[in-house]
Amino acid sequence: MISKPEEAKVSVYDRGFLYGDSVFETIRTYAGEPFALDEHLARLERSAARVAITPPLPRVDFALEIRRAIRAARNPESYVRVMITRGTGPMGLDTGLAEQALRVVLVEPLQSLPATVYRDGVSVITFKTRRAADEVAQGAKVSNYLTSMMALKEARAAGAHEALILDGSGDVLEGTTSNVFIVEGATLSTPPEEAGILVGITRAHVLETAHELGVAVKIERLPLDRVRRADEVFITSTLREIVPVIQVDAQPIGGHVPGRTTHAIHAAFRRKVGLAAEP
Ligand code: PLP
Repeated sequence: MISKPEEAKVSVYDRGFLYGDSVFETIRTYAGEPFALDEHLARLERSAARVAITPPLPRVDFALEIRRAIRAARNPESYVRVMITRGTGPMGLDTGLAEQALRVVLVEPLQSLPATVYRDGVSVITFKTRRAADEVAQGAKVSNYLTSMMALKEARAAGAHEALILDGSGDVLEGTTSNVFIVEGATLSTPPEEAGILVGITRAHVLETAHELGVAVKIERLPLDRVRRADEVFITSTLREIVPVIQVDAQPIGGHVPGRTTHAIHAAFRRKVGLAAEP
């Protein structure tokens, strides 16, 4: 059923609402086509499996539904949030109380970042957590983003674009809704899945692009002091693509301007998705 977002209804007994008992994906379109849809739906299934939610329909049918919702929205480009909750049922933590998993496909017009963000770069702060890599939902895109929200609140209060999440040992994991990369000389590095990150779809495409450009890649833990001393830092996400970071806390990165490798990777990524190299 397709309805206007303001008319769609979800029960107050929905477990996504009551307990954050849900998983989701954020997808965007290029020329009206959902980018990397199959990769996103595969990750959604992995997330659901991690918290023992049975997907409400097969991937091919879900993909059709998502495409139909995008077409119905008639936006120039869309931002799509795909959610699966465990469904409704009486209150209580027992997962068996839920009846049938619920799906919501929310389509909004895409709001791109201004070109200046890519040209001039952004500043970020760091936010220390006690995050442990063995948390139940680690690596799953589960709807509870409270830690990320508090980190982003601190970033915004400091006039920064994003917060980099640090784990208990002070290693940089990822942004609140982004993955993080550093460039040291001719080498690109990003933290491994085992560090407790969400493995981004954009991250995978950036790694592939780097490989095609002949940039050496290392998947390894990133202590904060290495990030601070890196020649270049950038963050990646579906909605933002590749954003150069020119300052971490009070520390300028590189020459306080976006670096050449960041720019080359972003330009190649944009060409791949059919856009002009410059945002
Ligand atoms: N890490 C976290 C915690 C995220 O929430 C996101 C995206 O929302 C990402 C990384 C980037 O993932 P993707 O490139 O798939 O958007």
